Amino acid sequence: MTRTTSPRAQHFDTLLVANRGEIACRVMRTARRMGLRTVAVYSDADANARHVRKADEAVRIGPAAARDSYLRVDAVLKAARRSGAGAIHPGYGFLSENADFVTACAEAGIVFIGPPATAISAMGDKSAAKARMEKAGVPLVPGYHGDDQDDALLRAAAERIGYPVLLKASRGGGGKGMRVVESGEGFQAALDGCRRESQAAFNDPRMLIEKYLTQPRHVEVQVFCDTHGNGVYLFERDCSVQRRHQKVLEEAPAPSMTAELRREMGEAAVRAAQEIGYVGAGTVEFLLDSSQEQDSRFYFMEMNTRLQVEHPVTEMITGQDLVEWQLRVAMGEPLPLAQDALTITGHSFEARLYAEDPAQGFLPATGHLEHFGLDLAGAGLDPTQVRLDSGVESGDEVSMHYDPMLAKLIVHGDDRDQALATLNRALAALDVRGVVTNRAFLQRLASHPAFRAAKLDTRFIEHHHVDLFAVHEPSAEDYASAALVALDRLGRESKSDSPWDRHDGFRLNADHRIRVGLNVPKATAPQSPAAEPIVVDGSRPHEDAPWRFDLGGTTLSANLQRLDGDAVAITLDGHRRRLQARLDGDTIVLADTQGETRLDWLRADAVDHGHHEAESTLTAPMHGTVVTLLVEPGTPVEKGMPLMVMEAMKMEHTLSAPADGQVVSFHFAAGDTVSQGEVLLEFAADE
Ligand code: ADP
Repeated sequence: MTRTTSPRAQHFDTLLVANRGEIACRVMRTARRMGLRTVAVYSDADANARHVRKADEAVRIGPAAARDSYLRVDAVLKAARRSGAGAIHPGYGFLSENADFVTACAEAGIVFIGPPATAISAMGDKSAAKARMEKAGVPLVPGYHGDDQDDALLRAAAERIGYPVLLKASRGGGGKGMRVVESGEGFQAALDGCRRESQAAFNDPRMLIEKYLTQPRHVEVQVFCDTHGNGVYLFERDCSVQRRHQKVLEEAPAPSMTAELRREMGEAAVRAAQEIGYVGAGTVEFLLDSSQEQDSRFYFMEMNTRLQVEHPVTEMITGQDLVEWQLRVAMGEPLPLAQDALTITGHSFEARLYAEDPAQGFLPATGHLEHFGLDLAGAGLDPTQVRLDSGVESGDEVSMHYDPMLAKLIVHGDDRDQALATLNRALAALDVRGVVTNRAFLQRLASHPAFRAAKLDTRFIEHHHVDLFAVHEPSAEDYASAALVALDRLGRESKSDSPWDRHDGFRLNADHRIRVGLNVPKATAPQSPAAEPIVVDGSRPHEDAPWRFDLGGTTLSANLQRLDGDAVAITLDGHRRRLQARLDGDTIVLADTQGETRLDWLRADAVDHGHHEAESTLTAPMHGTVVTLLVEPGTPVEKGMPLMVMEAMKMEHTLSAPADGQVVSFHFAAGDTVSQGEVLLEFAADE
């Protein structure tokens, strides 16, 4: 075993985080708790980003493009010198697995929070890493990773391994230069193609061949080593649910893991780390062959020489803070706990919230985040079971320059079922407005029966494509619920300038009829033909009565009760349902633990604001604006004839003559703002 780091204590009191987004915020949180001063770095696109706002100090390192800022070794080191940082935490991505950066830190006398450069290099080449792992007794997928790259020899190796095989670029990453070959016929063409891709992407045409597992699970082991020769594993995570080889949902511990397999995999992972002189946090990724239930075989895939995105699920089940461990190890301290002191408590899930549109091939989305929050109260969630690691806040811009991951939602429960129920509830409570996200897709994943049954493999999304991408056609109940939310919102708007902090329901003080137009948003179903708007006609005899809704011939009794936060209880014909309801621009979003319904709230005319008794004045039923006056004062009108139109929110409201008679005078003109209850006009009824 080679050691390149001195086991002597390395002191630092200022930590620079060479990253952005949620991971920079998360690392700084622990650093602050440990009494360290925190320094952020930022590109021009991030001058006011959350991680910059959270830091004690922040240094600009360049323009928006990552290669001109977060990937610049010289700029990051200069920022460290300028701010007096004694250590740099690289987070994940960017410079975290760049051996040259680690060397440059050492030369500058700055502590790098991570492994030695030699350990990073050892895992950088898949073929070389596999050769070393084989030597250390770590199980490999049957395959070939030799230096001889002769066509005939590779073909013979593939035959020996048995089809299907997977061709992989030795230098590869991110799924490039990787192809499945089903039979000998396709071998040569695939080999040529992969070599070309690999040469272009990594400047290296070398290939390795692996047996292609048709139903593998991705199970990875968290390891930790210190500079005193200690190494432990903090158990495993199952990250099988992936899109484009990128993880979406992760959990710990892995379902249906036996104590024996856990120990075997854990010990193999520690062996892998110690073989390369590892220090700090690392992850050894394995494929678990789930096609052999009885005899689950696991195979080394690669080692990630950094903290992983999904480390929080490990923190939730072990009760440890992995960033604190990293910092302590970097300071030269021994590992906080020995293997036999580490235990698993309960179950944890992580869902990655991306600014992307699953319906459009997970196309990244950008925009202004009008609102970003987690409505714990509304969802009735226990705050100790839910953690939101976020890189953004309400009002932030989501730019196109970086990874579209906005935040991670992490939950804990006593067991898998309980944790999953909490995850579904928490996803419904996640309130993101202004930017398209995969929130509802995550809900469909997390509530899918196969996921609930832990029938996992790396092609989960592919296998369940039909269910996961089905276009949700709103039901009559959905339209009625959305109409109730619209009416409720209208009522609140008319009473308060900040309607969302009110909990008492405003009700129109007269009996009334109202009409709400709703439509399926185009963005939800870009392929489906533009739907006709649905009009919900509502009426109720008095303010405490439920609405009577008429939509397309169906009548329903409908009532809304506001609960905590965004939560509402909607009762339709005696069936009460709890939902999170919110308004995203003009879109009404109804979320429950199964998914969400989005309906655009259209401008619709409210009809017949009726007053049965002849009155001498008409008052404004809501806070709004006068749109138009429809009659001349003094002109005779019949009962029910429209006199003036008001507008509030998306609704036009027509005020009608309460009796036969005439308007004596209007108190407002078109364009004027009026408050609820103000007298709008004087009316003289015929005797
Ligand atoms: P990269 O470095 O390009 O990301 P990896 O070797 O890490 O490539 O593999 C990425 C993903 O490809 C894995 O998470 C798994 O889903 C799939 N994969 C890799 N090797 C195999 C294999 N031998 N059989 C089946 N699937 C595999």
